[in-house]
Amino acid sequence: MNDSKRSGLLRKLPAVHEVLQAPRVAELLTFYPRVLVTEAARAVLNRARRQIMEGEKAIPPSEEGLFSFVVQEVLKTVERQARPNLRRVINATGVVLHTNLGRAVLSLQAQAAVQMAASGYTNLELDLETGRRGSRYAAVEGILTRLTGAESALVVNNNAAAVLLALSTLAGGREVVVSRGQLIEIGGSFRIPEVMAQSGARLVEVGTTNKTYPDDYRRAINENTALLLHVHTSNYRIVGFTRETGIAELADLGREFGLPVLSDLGSGVLVDLEDFGLPGEPTVQQAVAAGADVVTFSGDKLLGGPQAGIIVGKRHLLERMKKNPLTRALRIDKFTVAALEATLRAYLDGERALEEIPVLKMLIAGRADLERRARELARLLNEHAAGRAQITVVQVTSRVGGGALPTAELPSFAAAVKSEEISAEELSWRLRAKDPAVIGRIQEDLLLLDVRTLQEGEEKLLAQAIKDALKEGPEDG
Ligand SMILES: *Cc1c(COP(=O)(O)O)cnc(C)c1O
Repeated sequence: MNDSKRSGLLRKLPAVHEVLQAPRVAELLTFYPRVLVTEAARAVLNRARRQIMEGEKAIPPSEEGLFSFVVQEVLKTVERQARPNLRRVINATGVVLHTNLGRAVLSLQAQAAVQMAASGYTNLELDLETGRRGSRYAAVEGILTRLTGAESALVVNNNAAAVLLALSTLAGGREVVVSRGQLIEIGGSFRIPEVMAQSGARLVEVGTTNKTYPDDYRRAINENTALLLHVHTSNYRIVGFTRETGIAELADLGREFGLPVLSDLGSGVLVDLEDFGLPGEPTVQQAVAAGADVVTFSGDKLLGGPQAGIIVGKRHLLERMKKNPLTRALRIDKFTVAALEATLRAYLDGERALEEIPVLKMLIAGRADLERRARELARLLNEHAAGRAQITVVQVTSRVGGGALPTAELPSFAAAVKSEEISAEELSWRLRAKDPAVIGRIQEDLLLLDVRTLQEGEEKLLAQAIKDALKEGPEDG
């Protein structure tokens, strides 16, 4: 495009007030505030000016064409802005505990409990028996102690908060001994040395990255030592020549020196995943039985419940934590209590947990079942693509995610989408703009849709999204 053609096009662009008078834009003004529509018109015109200067082909050359292009863009912009920012997402990545996608999907029972808590009043802090003030933890404390074998339980906002509260209560101003091999960072913001600093406790590192012996702890213990800390290396593994001092050994040391042992487990597994071919992950029951005085874990990792930090352990230690003013600042809301109780109840009967809790169901899904679902999805997608793309079934590897079981490779199946007209990048961009948004994985210009993480009924929504995305012209989106 030459300069005179460009300035010709720029002159043909309508003014803001002309756009606002277009019938379909005027109609918008009956639903949306004038400022919002005006701003959208301004933004679209600025963008169109830039697109003309850059010689973009999507810009229609005629005055009428340009006008309807601008009107169309204004309609789309206003509708996009009016949409909720937090939207449903179809997770076709195969990453079960995808932190960016909100980690655990709640069970139907937990969803119903949240709905119950949202739609009316609850006995959150009222003991219905006595009519007196009760504890918001009462709904889950008894179930947690029954499931884990611990004496007492407390729940805060997330596991990072649980660790912070435990360190601050049990070791503020004093020393905490931890192995160099366990100075973990989770998700870029939870780092043991920094949480320790925040809690007011002093970190004393012992041993080496790959080997730490009980004697390393023994040498570091002095009159300022308050706590022995064991951190489960949930998002990495140290392999090869290694020696970890386990929770049971730390508990022996704790008894020897009269020091409590805190175990940060990260994921709170309550069922042994090894039975299902997944790498062994220490369960909460095992950590308690091994002698940890306090155990902390997340509610929304392998447990499959709401975001929460669960603390179980010795009553006298948890009583001190409950009195710490931090507990009030870190307390959970009624939705969390509701969802957590419903999730935990499923574990009271082990079989039920495996049937009800989506995270567990997704993790233990069988190969044959996944393959059948991928074939069914590919068939449905081919129907909807109407020749605009080829969809095949491919073998893929799903991941647990959420900083859990980092080495686990879960064999799975995906529908692989290949369009002749648009790239996998373009297709996945269009799918992200849908409602619900669809997130897959790109591999060698194929868009992979792993069936493991699809929820019931999402196949149809996914097929519709693919159909719409493939149909869009280059100027849409
Ligand atoms: C995930 C994790 C945390 C942080 O838990 P959040 O619930 O995400 O706050 C802390 N410690 C370990 C070992 C973890 O795996």
